[in-house]
Amino acid sequence: MTTNNGQSANGQVNSEQKPVENVIIIGSGPAGFTAGLYAARANLSPLLITGNDYGGQVSITYDIENYPGFPESLSGPELVEKFKAQAEKFGTRVEFDFVSEIVVDRHPFVVRTESGAEYLTRTIIVSTGARPRYLEVPGEKLLTGKGVSYCATCDGFFFRGKDVLVVGGGDSATEEALFLTRYASRVRILHRRDKLRASKILQDRVFGNEKIEMVWNTVVAEVVGESGAVSGVKTQNTVTGEEGFLATDGVFIFIGHLPNNDLFPGKLEMDEDGHLITDRKLRTNVPGIFAAGEIQDKVFKQVATSVGQGCAAAMSVTRFLEELETGHSVDWRADPREFDAPRAAVLA
Ligand code: NAP
Repeated sequence: MTTNNGQSANGQVNSEQKPVENVIIIGSGPAGFTAGLYAARANLSPLLITGNDYGGQVSITYDIENYPGFPESLSGPELVEKFKAQAEKFGTRVEFDFVSEIVVDRHPFVVRTESGAEYLTRTIIVSTGARPRYLEVPGEKLLTGKGVSYCATCDGFFFRGKDVLVVGGGDSATEEALFLTRYASRVRILHRRDKLRASKILQDRVFGNEKIEMVWNTVVAEVVGESGAVSGVKTQNTVTGEEGFLATDGVFIFIGHLPNNDLFPGKLEMDEDGHLITDRKLRTNVPGIFAAGEIQDKVFKQVATSVGQGCAAAMSVTRFLEELETGHSVDWRADPREFDAPRAAVLA
């Protein structure tokens, strides 16, 4: 017996009955929407499934100053809406749903979602992005939403006139610390070393901001609460081992990100940090499945690079589908960047 969505009574997909998508894009960050734009312009009528964090990390960024084409800067949510509008203009279909399972050991692949939808697709572009890394210290989980936050844009407003700590030393920590000075009376950045990792321009702004103080060589050992809200953190000096306590109203944690890879163990190859492994054409180890953005990029992680990878993944999908249809290997052209071996030889 087959239901009207092409599913048999035992839950198996009946591929004879269901339409087969050309490409399903999983994720709605810069990589996903750009993949949608390019796939749509290649007449592939892509289906983009947004995930629960619509727009990805960009959507919680207050001000984007380094995305080319916007010299006056613009907000993350504004940029996401522009990405979406441009992708939809050319025919990307956007579904607000969350992919709960992919089946990759059959072709067409199967994509299932939290809402119960099930799709067949010839190709997949994975652009599930990354999520904030946790400190994993006592009190952190308990006090999340009660003074512990991973999003200054979302929560900064609640700290008007208050004291906050920012943990981390990268671009996110410094950028968000600067943002928090709009509200907080004092912002202290706790960093585990005595040197910031952040870009020079952000470092200069931080050091020049009178509301910001640096607390060097310090890690958080515990987040402490009183009456259900953050009251301070227990600290440890990374050089001397000395323990301390800093009273504060809020703790904003920006210590990097982890790839959103829950769908892929046992299905797609990942590196030791959980990023999908791709080649230069953004192919994963499964033919027909491609990946773009922070799920596969542990080096650059910029809006601009994610956009480029989304574009490249969609172009790779287009060529893959041509190969599938014609049965002929498509001319990928010689990749001018195939210089790893000779360069290594020269350096050695
Ligand atoms: P990141 O560059 O990986 O920096 C993470 C920071 O957290 C580092 O300073 C690290 O210390 C610290 N850290 C890591 N684990 C820690 C722990 N357990 N306890 C205490 N501190 C810890 O991450 P990010 O700042 O989120 O940036 C991620 C990527 O996005 C980067 O490529 C960045 O350039 C990019 N980004 C760019 C912009 C922009 O261009 N405006 C804005 C935001 C992010 P160490 O320095 O000692 O390793």
